[in-house]
Amino acid sequence: MNKLQEMPKIELHVHLDGSMRLETASQWSKESLDVVREKMEAPIDCVDLNNYLTKFSFPLSLLQTKDHLTRVAYELVEDLEKDHVIYAEIRFAPILHTKQGLSLQEVVEAVLDGLKKGRIKCGLLLCLMRNEKEENNRKVIEVAKQYLGKGVVGLDLAGAEGMYPTSNFASLFQEAQKQNIPFTIHAGEADGPSSILSAIQFGAKRLGHGVRIIEDSSLMQLAKKQDITLEICPSSNLQTRIVTNYADHPLFALFNQGLHVTINTDNRTVSNITLTQEYQKLKDAFPFAEEDFKAMNLYAVQASFLPEEEKQQLVEEYLSQWEQYLHIHYSKNN
Ligand SMILES: [Zn+2]
Repeated sequence: MNKLQEMPKIELHVHLDGSMRLETASQWSKESLDVVREKMEAPIDCVDLNNYLTKFSFPLSLLQTKDHLTRVAYELVEDLEKDHVIYAEIRFAPILHTKQGLSLQEVVEAVLDGLKKGRIKCGLLLCLMRNEKEENNRKVIEVAKQYLGKGVVGLDLAGAEGMYPTSNFASLFQEAQKQNIPFTIHAGEADGPSSILSAIQFGAKRLGHGVRIIEDSSLMQLAKKQDITLEICPSSNLQTRIVTNYADHPLFALFNQGLHVTINTDNRTVSNITLTQEYQKLKDAFPFAEEDFKAMNLYAVQASFLPEEEKQQLVEEYLSQWEQYLHIHYSKNN
């Protein structure tokens, strides 16, 4: 087995719909793998985030029943396990799965059922959508509250950041704060530092992507001071043209400047990537030491939305897995 594959990992930013297996989509749609691939994988160079987002309509059309939601959630956990992920926070937007009459509760329960069948620990994040009506997003906050501590660990805000500025969503996150629901916000991807500043002001402790923080050194200082964690997804950023090639990605620079950087896939199918491949690309592009990957994973544990006690257990679990990993790979040669 590939050494990087065996490295223990934490993943905080992975979307359910964008990570649905091609084989499953092909089976349900009765279309060939090639046709399905064309509909679900984004080209290496999309025009922008809006273009990338068109790749979600096909998987979403197949994810409108409880059985399908349960199976896709379970399959994603299996795929995470292959990358030796020991804890993941999986996200999706429940509102997008109610087109054939499921209630928000039924949608969330179906996904939780799938996650529970897997062999690794997972938390679920419910995404509010930038293009949704406020009343619908408020319903999702209510459902998050209902299932908090029962599989749901927090909220997110997703969708076209360039078209619907983060600053528009203050009242939703006031409500989340009031309800004590932790949240992350996609910010600093298609939009720049102002979006990141809004997210931090709303109380987000994590930023989905957040890469464009590199454009503003005072914002970087603020993020460091407040222990803000960046959920970085390099391959996805390449496709949405935030960066033009892997070596230009700011992840390495941000890490070296002391920001809490974590490594994620975003959408395994849309980007045709596994977490192990993402690590490999980073290792090839930058002079990362192995311990740096450990540090980033420990940042991820600290930034997870697990209760404090479970977080401590996860730190111990991670460190023990790390020791085993070192033992397997280095004891033979010494
Ligand atoms: Zn994302």
